[in-house]
Amino acid sequence: TIGMLALDAHGNLAGACTTSGMAYKLHGRIGDSPIIGAGLYIDNEVGGATATGVGEEVVRNVGSFLVVELMRQGYSPEEACKEAVMRIINKKKKSTKDLQVGFLALNKNGEYGAYAIQKGFTFAVCDSQKQDLIIKGKSYY
Ligand code: ASP
Repeated sequence: TIGMLALDAHGNLAGACTTSGMAYKLHGRIGDSPIIGAGLYIDNEVGGATATGVGEEVVRNVGSFLVVELMRQGYSPEEACKEAVMRIINKKKKSTKDLQVGFLALNKNGEYGAYAIQKGFTFAVCDSQKQDLIIKGKSYY
């Protein structure tokens, strides 16, 4: 998935995401990306979030909506992404060593953060000061 979150000069938030889907997926499978609240969610009063990884886990937890609701309660973007990841991990009965889910979030103040289960989840930040700054997101493993 490529997820994008934007905050304009007037303080308006927007987001978009695209996906390649999962390898060997069942015909007709719908992942999280086209489902608002799962792969993407924006609330212009709070912030936005987007997800990548195994869409079934994101859909089950309404992941991007959860991240935005946590930010509404005062979580920072990174804390909100981490909490959403931890809910997925804590609900799993099996090991999550081979499972990847990551969230990226941006709030109304322009603060951003990310958190994933596996290492290697990077994101880019672009604004008038930072041009294409690449940041390594934190992860559980
Ligand atoms: N989240 C996507 C899906 O499950 C996969 C991806 O592109 O990360 O369809």
